[in-house]
Amino acid sequence: MNGDVARLPDNLLQRRRIAYFSMEIALRAEIPTYSGGLGVLAGDTLRSAADLRLPLVGVTLVSRQGYLRQEIGEDDWQRDLPDPWDPARWTRPIGAKVTVEIAGRAVWVQAWLYLLEGGTGGSVPVLLLDTDLPENHPEDRRLTDLLYGGDREYRLRQEMVLGIGGVRLLRALGFSVEGYHLNEGHSALLVLELARFHERRDGGGLTRFDLDEVRRRCVFTTHTPVEAGHDRFSWELVERLMRPEDVNLLREALEGESELNMTCLALRLSAFVNGVAKRHAEVSRRLYPGYRVHAITNGVHPDTWAHPALAALYDRFITGWRHEPELLVRAEAIDDGEIWKAHRVARESLFRQVRERAGVQLDHDRPVIGFARRMTGYKRPTLIFEEPERLRAIHRKSPFQLLVAGKAHPQDGPGKEAIRTIVRIARELEAEGPRVVFLPDYDMALARHLVAGCDVWLNTPLPPMEASGTSGMKAAFNGVLNLSILDGWWLEGCIEGVTGWAIGNGEQDDRDGDVESLYTKLEQVVLPTWYGDRRRWIWMMKQAIGKNAYYFNSHRMMRRYATDAYYHFL
Ligand SMILES: *Cc1c(COP(=O)(O)O)cnc(C)c1O
Repeated sequence: MNGDVARLPDNLLQRRRIAYFSMEIALRAEIPTYSGGLGVLAGDTLRSAADLRLPLVGVTLVSRQGYLRQEIGEDDWQRDLPDPWDPARWTRPIGAKVTVEIAGRAVWVQAWLYLLEGGTGGSVPVLLLDTDLPENHPEDRRLTDLLYGGDREYRLRQEMVLGIGGVRLLRALGFSVEGYHLNEGHSALLVLELARFHERRDGGGLTRFDLDEVRRRCVFTTHTPVEAGHDRFSWELVERLMRPEDVNLLREALEGESELNMTCLALRLSAFVNGVAKRHAEVSRRLYPGYRVHAITNGVHPDTWAHPALAALYDRFITGWRHEPELLVRAEAIDDGEIWKAHRVARESLFRQVRERAGVQLDHDRPVIGFARRMTGYKRPTLIFEEPERLRAIHRKSPFQLLVAGKAHPQDGPGKEAIRTIVRIARELEAEGPRVVFLPDYDMALARHLVAGCDVWLNTPLPPMEASGTSGMKAAFNGVLNLSILDGWWLEGCIEGVTGWAIGNGEQDDRDGDVESLYTKLEQVVLPTWYGDRRRWIWMMKQAIGKNAYYFNSHRMMRRYATDAYYHFL
């Protein structure tokens, strides 16, 4: 960070705000500070907040090395390359500095300001915390480099910077913050700073922290039932890095816990807790008995995820949809020929990407199935490849092409194994099978092409692990039909044969049944409809827009947060 720091524009300080804390936020395609759905959702959250003029301020880490740039090596194995970016290119440094004491050493924290501009003149400031300052110890300068990298200790140090440093910096900059929204548990250490603040405000001399007041101010959204998504730290590590009074407070708040569990901390100190779909809230209630877990189903940002060709069409037929996506309920008013033409435009721009990225020319007369998501166990990315002979047989009757993309976390061996399997099967299938293309380096930019230009959007997670899933909602915004396991949002969105199709019956673990159901549906329903009943297909595209996009958008989601979770802060 250079010394040329700016003042915070005064107008940003005029409103009381809700601070939205997230380890990752996908601010724009050019800023690689996200790893997947959590970050993209955080970005869509703030984009809708800007559009709706909800007074939020985002807080995250600058993650100078990005998440990872993915290449596939000669051996078909994923290479993890750094994906550095230059904060000065997109943000401006803001002149306030605070310290966080970590392992007895003061770590200085400063922020970059990114102003997220809404389509209606509103905006949301986002602070990207940075410890790469000359006054810091060389080791501490690296704390805001890696997203989900390093070891447990590195992660805890990062979470101290995010939670404690974030609150201090907001205060130092003069923000008046009414409520705190913890997007996942990574930022839960912010409660320490809130507790301290309330202690001071009460005139000192207090021996107990007013945790009720902290609780009143916190909203916690949990995003996954998957174990790896919940940070835990041993008390030994916590005691080594944190000040004794903070350790005491945490032990008090977490009495009886054998470790510092960030989810548990967030649960205990938030008055409002929610899961990201109805099924996910139910699953979370079972995982965390004794807590009231609400459901606010995720959504995606209309303007970000509707392809320009589709958006132009909505502008003509459904005036006002950008601010009020509920109006998409009128999707049936769109002319059949026009919607198909817009879809062809989106398909053509995807085909161009595939040519440029993989040197492959797709066939204009065949449907494209897309599967893109983080490559990790519960997403079951190899499920459709379970029986290559069956895929060949289906392809002989009704030819199709399949696009696959997704990154594996650098430490996720099985995830990388899945990628290798897919790349190898793609090669095998070249002889008399469907064309399968693995597109490296899945990110927001590639996602925008895929969710608009495919015909079918496939999802095959292991229920009930897909808390929500959001890429299928992006597909719906483009009239791309979902073919998905009944889990997460799809339990709420699927009307069989109308908005898309279900795979299996949503039962816990029935891989064989799911594989069979997927092949049967593809062979007997999906592909025959594409080839034989184009009118029905187009009708379904409009149902997906009118019944799914109209609801599963982040404007509706943020209006829900405003009325259910934020109302006493607004
Ligand atoms: C939307 C999105 C995701 C999340 O997709 P899921 O359906 O939840 O798996 C992940 N990565 C990128 C780049 C996205 O745009």
